[in-house]
Amino acid sequence: MTPASRDDGSAGSAGSAGSAGPVSGRDWARAVELISAADEIALACHVSPDGDALGSMLAVGLALRAAGKRVTASFGDRRFSVPRLLRFLPGQELLADPAHYPAAPEVMVTFDVPTVGRLGVLTGNTVKANELVVLDHHPSNTGFGTLNLVDPDAAATAVLAEELIHRLGLPIDKDIATCLYVGLVTDTGSFRHSSTTPEAHAMAARLLDTGLDPEKISRELWDRSPFGYLKVLGVVLGRVRLEPEVGGGLVWTFVTRADRAAYGLPYDEVEGMIDVIRRTDEADVATILKEDDDGVWQVSMRSKGGVDVSRVSVALGGGGHAKAAGFTSHQPVEETIASLRALL
Ligand code: 5GP
Ligand code: MN
Repeated sequence: MTPASRDDGSAGSAGSAGSAGPVSGRDWARAVELISAADEIALACHVSPDGDALGSMLAVGLALRAAGKRVTASFGDRRFSVPRLLRFLPGQELLADPAHYPAAPEVMVTFDVPTVGRLGVLTGNTVKANELVVLDHHPSNTGFGTLNLVDPDAAATAVLAEELIHRLGLPIDKDIATCLYVGLVTDTGSFRHSSTTPEAHAMAARLLDTGLDPEKISRELWDRSPFGYLKVLGVVLGRVRLEPEVGGGLVWTFVTRADRAAYGLPYDEVEGMIDVIRRTDEADVATILKEDDDGVWQVSMRSKGGVDVSRVSVALGGGGHAKAAGFTSHQPVEETIASLRALL
C-alpha cells in the first residue's frame, strides 16, 4: 500500500495552516522540490520530545542522510538531553546540541511542533531559515512555516513523515521504520486511542514488514524504568485528589523536583505517570503537574471526551489535542489548579 490515497487532486488545504483535511498534492510536491534541491537540511522537533516528535524527525533524517544530504537534527531544550526512554531509537548520531545548529538553515523542517515557541531555544533559527517546512498533526497548529503540511486527521506526525519519505522516493529500511513505528504507537497509545484507524493499522503492517522488533520497542517505551520510578509514583499517587464536581470530574496530582531528587529520578522518567492517573472512572479529566529541574511546571492533561483539554491548555498558553494537551506554568501548584478549575 502506498500513500496514494492522499494523492494529488484530493481536497486540498491550499497550504493554509490548521485547516481540516489532508495536505494537498501541490503542497507535497513543493516540499519534495524544496528538500530535493537542498544539500543541507536542518530538522527540529518540539522541546521535551516524545516518541512521535523524535521518531518522525529521526526517520526523515535517516532517509535524507541515506540520500546523501547533510542532516542536522535537534530540539530546543535548555539542557539538551535525549529522554532516556528514547535513546534506543536509531539515528541518534544525527542529533546535535542546539548550540551547533545552523543559524540560517537553507531548509528547516519541524516535526510535531504546533506553535513556533515549542521549538524552545531553536525558535530564533526559524527566522533566518530560507524555507521552513512544518510537518504536524495538531489541530491547533498556527501555520508558522513557509510551507505547512498539517493534517489534524493524521494519527501521528509519523504518518506525515512516512508520506514525505515516500514522496521523496526514498526507501524505508528497518531503522527508519522503527522510528516511524515509535511515533505511531506512542501517539495512538498502542492502538487504543480514537486515532486507531484502519490507516493506522495499515501503516503498522507496512512498517512491520521491514522486520522491526515490536516486542523490543514496547519494552523500551512502556515496560521498564529505574526502581526510583516506583518510589516516586508511590508518593505521587499518595497525594492524588479527586474533584467530582469540576468538569465531568477532575483527578489530579503533582510531582516536584524534590520528589524526584530523593530517588535520583530524571524529569523525563515521569512522563508516563499521567497514564496511571487517567484511568480513574470518576473523572473525565486527568491532570499531572510536573516540576522540571529549573522549577518550571509542565502540565499534562487528558480527557475521555467530555471536555476539550486543548481549549483549556490553549487558554493557559499551551496546546495539544482535544483528549491530550498541555501547557507550561510558572505559578505554584494550587494557583495553576485554580486557573484550570475556572476553565473547566
Ligand atoms: P504531554 O502531556 O504528553 O506532554 O502532551 C500532550 C499533548 O499536548 C501533545 O500533543 C503535546 O504536543 C501538547 N502539549 C503539551 N504541552 C504543551 C505546551 O506547553 N504547549 C503546547 N503548544 N502544546 C503542548
Ligand atoms: Mn504527535
